[in-house]
Amino acid sequence: MKSLTRKRVLITGGAGFLGSNLADRMIAAGHDVLVADNFFTGTKDNILHLLDNPHFELIRHNITFPLYVEVDEIFNLACPASPIHYQFDPVQTTKTSVHGAINMLGLAKRVKAKILQASTSEVYGDPEVHPQVESYWGRVNCTGIRSCYDEGKRCAETLFFDYWRQYKLRIKVIRIFNTYGPRMHPNDGRVVSNFIVQALQNQDITLYGSGNQTRSFCYCDDLIEGMIRMMDSEDDFIGPVNIGNPGEFTIRELAEKVIAMTGSKSKIVYQPLPQDDPKQRRPDISLAKEKLDWQPTINLDEGLKRTIAYFDQLLTQRNSN
Ligand code: NAD
Ligand code: UDP
Ligand code: UDP
Repeated sequence: MKSLTRKRVLITGGAGFLGSNLADRMIAAGHDVLVADNFFTGTKDNILHLLDNPHFELIRHNITFPLYVEVDEIFNLACPASPIHYQFDPVQTTKTSVHGAINMLGLAKRVKAKILQASTSEVYGDPEVHPQVESYWGRVNCTGIRSCYDEGKRCAETLFFDYWRQYKLRIKVIRIFNTYGPRMHPNDGRVVSNFIVQALQNQDITLYGSGNQTRSFCYCDDLIEGMIRMMDSEDDFIGPVNIGNPGEFTIRELAEKVIAMTGSKSKIVYQPLPQDDPKQRRPDISLAKEKLDWQPTINLDEGLKRTIAYFDQLLTQRNSN
């Protein structure tokens, strides 16, 4: 039996960076939260503060296997997000996106839950349309080293839309652009965490390629707000909808910003650009503005300040242990 206002929410990948931030928000809003995570990239540390809460529950579970629970809403976030992690076991990455989506959609179908997919700007690949709008079909290599992630996420979107067409499931698809903030894994290889951790330790800043490639960086609190608004939107708005910060920076600008903000003695060193690294990326967020009344509120300087403070504390703790 469910209560009238308290929702039973399943977050797959809830021990990860975004999932744990979402779990905090859902607990604070008074919901029952169930996290299913296999701890491939996530860690109990991210949710340690929730473990004693009677409205929070954690299960160690790999979503490529069936899961039978009774819930009202499912946020499907389970999937490694950083290139070094999703390329570590690429077959498992595709399985997580594809078999994982089938299982979570099957679950949503059985219990009549609403289900949100954390898709990605990677579905646009190395885009020729700039900024990226949802109607753009993308330019993705299906045999390269990023394909396990990109094509897995594209197939997951297909499954979501087919379950919607075939079974009238209530689906929601968001395309997340590069997001950063506290609880990113310090060694997960993504550019913001890499640069901050390197700068704080006065180590070389590893710039891949010329550094002229661009990305748009969204602070995690803004992203989570957009994700929740999407879940709460009218049933007839299913997406896909871009959620990201339209501010666009070259990776060299980001490196210089991080060095300046940390007062670091680090030097920039140039390393080869990984295969299929997209040259540019910036979301067109008109649809999110119109349908969700959402736009980011935290600019890169403010977000970096908070993220630097987080990693500074983390590294200080590690050094004192
Ligand atoms: P993350 O690696 O911190 O979190 C992913 C979580 O999923 C981890 O806790 C991991 O242990 C778990 N997981 C992985 N495979 C699993 C499996 N088979 N079964 C159960 N759990 C599994 O990454 P994140 O940045 O928090 O990303 C969360 C979601 O958002 C991912 O689906 C990612 O593709 C998507 N996304 C993130 C970004 C970003 O910039 N952070 C951008 C686009 C999309
Ligand atoms: N599934 C699950 N939990 C449920 C219901 C289904 O994990 O509560 C899985 C089930 O293992 C199945 C998948 O979801 O393989 C797809 O379910 P669906 O009902 O769509 O397909 P079917 O079972 O008919 O193949
Ligand atoms: N990058 C970099 N140095 C690093 C890590 C990443 O120059 O130490 C570059 C990377 O080549 C890419 C951009 O920063 O052009 C963003 O990389 P990330 O892995 O964070 O995200 P994605 O490529 O998936 O957008």
